Amino acid sequence: MEFENLKLKCECGGNMDKIKTSWKGIDVRGWKCSKCSEEIINPADAQKALELEKARKKNLFVVKLRTVGKSKVVTIPRSIIEAEKLKDGQKMEWKLERGRLVLVP
Ligand SMILES: [Zn+2]
Repeated sequence: MEFENLKLKCECGGNMDKIKTSWKGIDVRGWKCSKCSEEIINPADAQKALELEKARKKNLFVVKLRTVGKSKVVTIPRSIIEAEKLKDGQKMEWKLERGRLVLVP
């Protein structure tokens, strides 16, 4: 089922537009009613957000730096790899955002 392509109607009769929003601190896709502002989160993204939240609570996202040659190495936890469908050989980019180090697939 491709949720992204669904055209939804709200219970109030208004049209629902696709939105990108944040839920539990994770970027998710969803729909928002143009009339009553009711929001629905894409079920596949909601599932992903719940699993990431669970992993975060168990401290599965805390990693230690290691040294390889002159570089430092961090590992990416399995739950993130699965949620983001990361593949070997894929390019990732480090970004510095307001004092945070962000790894963008
Ligand atoms: Zn509505």
